[in-house]
Amino acid sequence: MSVRPSAKAERFTESVIREMTRLAHLHGAVNLSQGFPDFPAPEEVKEAARRAVASDINQYAITWGARSLRQAIARKFERLYGLPVDPEREVTVTCGSTEAMIATLLAVLDPGDEVVVFEPFYENYGPDAILSGAVPRFVALRPPEWTFDPDELERAFSSRTRAIIVNTPNNPTGKVFTRAELETIAGLCRRHDALAVTDEIYEHILYDGAVHLPLATLPEMAGRTITINGMSKTYSVTGWRVGWAIAPPPLTNAIRKVHDFLTVGAAAPLQEAGALALELPAAYYEELARAYDRRRRRLLGILDGAGFDVYRPRGAYYVMVDTDRLGWDDDVAFARHLVEEVGVAVVPGSSFYRDPASGRRQVRFAFCKKEETLAEAEKRLARLRPRPRA
Ligand code: GLN
Repeated sequence: MSVRPSAKAERFTESVIREMTRLAHLHGAVNLSQGFPDFPAPEEVKEAARRAVASDINQYAITWGARSLRQAIARKFERLYGLPVDPEREVTVTCGSTEAMIATLLAVLDPGDEVVVFEPFYENYGPDAILSGAVPRFVALRPPEWTFDPDELERAFSSRTRAIIVNTPNNPTGKVFTRAELETIAGLCRRHDALAVTDEIYEHILYDGAVHLPLATLPEMAGRTITINGMSKTYSVTGWRVGWAIAPPPLTNAIRKVHDFLTVGAAAPLQEAGALALELPAAYYEELARAYDRRRRRLLGILDGAGFDVYRPRGAYYVMVDTDRLGWDDDVAFARHLVEEVGVAVVPGSSFYRDPASGRRQVRFAFCKKEETLAEAEKRLARLRPRPRA
């Protein structure tokens, strides 16, 4: 029958995160679901975009990214982490890190290859694996610290393993992978000749002295790691869709080809603004982290007061909570109740697990929001009462 979608497209559902934002609009709820800032982007970054449009940077950039932005990406990585990056042969600019991830997986995975994914995981990685024909092998991150069992990780690797996806600082848990954990991962990648695909989009959003360590900087890892990042979270411009992948030249060639036929290129004037943004001084990133720490403490206080058991994040801008103490063990029903009756939108925990049952007592709150937004959420959450158990 001709109106039948592909088997691939049938194997995953629409994004729950994006759906929750639509429901937030529908019910006039405070949106603490999708992770985008509701405060303005830095003035100088916006001004750079305006200037680029006015000076007629309005046609296609080079497919794999404007040279100015690729150079800024390479310089910043070397400045922060001491690893040289060749902007001509190792950087691909994409439409957001979302495209960087799918373009990378399409470029490096063959159908039947296995890809190791820590769970809970950012929901895109599931459909990304399906679209690239790969078979995901999940390894649990266990609360409260969201640590993994090294033996379980070792068992997930086999001769079929082509890659592992590592997201640090982590969405949704707020975990920041430690050096020891990253060394364990690197050891397995070397032993099994596997690639590492790292999503480091929250690299500057760190708390309590946590340090971000790119997996690519560990011994023998630069040659087998694809480092994904973007402007969205660091410069509060999630709608610009400017991301990138740093990878060794043979992989960059493949990623550039896939990227070219997926999207041709990211918005040219916004890439120019990116070139300026990536040269902002260290003080910008320090203030970004401090401001997020204030929001984090504020939301943790609100959630604790509302009766949740909270998992304190050490990075990124989400808080996972356990709803058991409030008498809820159905995350989807609870999220519906919150958005419809209480007026606060969150993401049901099950969207971050392969087996929905694993997330049934969890929901995720985002705190990349203005003080007024959090204050309004506090007012509304004060109406939440523990539910009598059946
Ligand atoms: N990363 C953000 C989140 O997890 C939003 C991602 C998106 O919707 N593209 O909510």
